[in-house]
Amino acid sequence: MATHEAMARINENYLKLQAGYLFPEIGRRVGAFQKKNPDAAVIKLGIGDVTRPLVPAVLEAFHAAVEEMGTDAGFRGYGPEQGYGFLVDLIREHDYAARGVEIAADEIFVSDGSKCDSGNIQEIFGIGNVVALADPVYPVYLDTNVMAGRTGEADDQGRYGGIVYMPAVAENGFNPEPPSVRADLVYLCSPNNPTGAVSTREQLARWVDYARQNDAVILFDAAYEGFIADPSLPHSIYEVEGAREVAIEFRSFSKSAGFTGTRCAFTVVPKTVMGKTASGQSVSLNDLWNRRQTTKFNGVSYPVQQAAAAVYTPEGRQQTGEIVRFYMENARLIREGLSASGLEVYGGENAPYIWFRTPGGLTSWDFFDRLLEKTQVVGTPGSGFGPSGEGYFRLSAFNSRENVEEAIARVTRTSW
Ligand SMILES: *Cc1c(COP(=O)(O)O)cnc(C)c1O
Repeated sequence: MATHEAMARINENYLKLQAGYLFPEIGRRVGAFQKKNPDAAVIKLGIGDVTRPLVPAVLEAFHAAVEEMGTDAGFRGYGPEQGYGFLVDLIREHDYAARGVEIAADEIFVSDGSKCDSGNIQEIFGIGNVVALADPVYPVYLDTNVMAGRTGEADDQGRYGGIVYMPAVAENGFNPEPPSVRADLVYLCSPNNPTGAVSTREQLARWVDYARQNDAVILFDAAYEGFIADPSLPHSIYEVEGAREVAIEFRSFSKSAGFTGTRCAFTVVPKTVMGKTASGQSVSLNDLWNRRQTTKFNGVSYPVQQAAAAVYTPEGRQQTGEIVRFYMENARLIREGLSASGLEVYGGENAPYIWFRTPGGLTSWDFFDRLLEKTQVVGTPGSGFGPSGEGYFRLSAFNSRENVEEAIARVTRTSW
């Protein structure tokens, strides 16, 4: 038997992660409620997953590519780790050149998800870097840095030592200004999950200035750019002058084209974004990410990349656009319904999330329970996205029209 000393040691940073993870706890409370109230019709507006099926243009391309894989001429084995040229070229043209942004083919890395990319990117950075993040925000940025050992322990409010938290609250329009302290890595998410806030060009320009002044790198998650309706808002951080020198951008087909189960996304790492060695030598992050991906990743399957390419055809754009408009109409109904019931509501105009202050100063979890009791609607407690999310609540627009209308009817007849 192995001695204690010889046992495989774990990465103890994982033990710093907070135990009561958000969605399992939601599941537990909903399960307990349903057990007590077996006839209650519970409507879930909690988890951020899409509900509408793949559009016909995507499905057709997906099928055709699967058929091709079964022929001698069309069979493909390993593809380029960075993605097939046909998809990379469409991304360059439609997502960037069409908005006046020059991105080269070898600056685009197709992947199986922005969750993985935004989680894996920290690997190419040194452990001593100071990380700044909006609070509340998508938990992946923080948790992956905790796992890597870039933080201390969490305090009783869930704040980790060593992290620069930037509160995103009603008072600053959910768009924190760059901090007065130095940070090396800055995670930004716009349109934001969970607040639904979107950064303006001027706000992003201040971040780009901050990064240039501090030699920092911005990790910009634009997974929800497809939901931006206001034409004055930027879809890419590269629409801001100077961002090509300081920013990495994450994009995904998950939410805007229904690819949460199909899996396709991409990350842009301009060759001009540099990091430094301890001795001060500049190194291209594009080279490091390319090395990381070619070592640890073998590419997205050919049929999935063909399905993603179909999103850019005229039919694909029209059909996915209709689905985005469908979700955004849900968002409008939720926003207006919550406002009509006297709640203080944010988001939902350029993002599929509606964020609101809990009534009467309730904690996020107390409001979760009250909402479930009174209306049988399930949402997500804001405190699950960071300490400054306490006292807020998130509803998502991803559901059927019928369920959204029913949920809102119940909410508007409720007094808190
Ligand atoms: C859903 C989501 C993603 C997308 O993740 P995928 O792995 O591409 O499905 C990325 N960032 C945020 C903030 C999200 O909410």
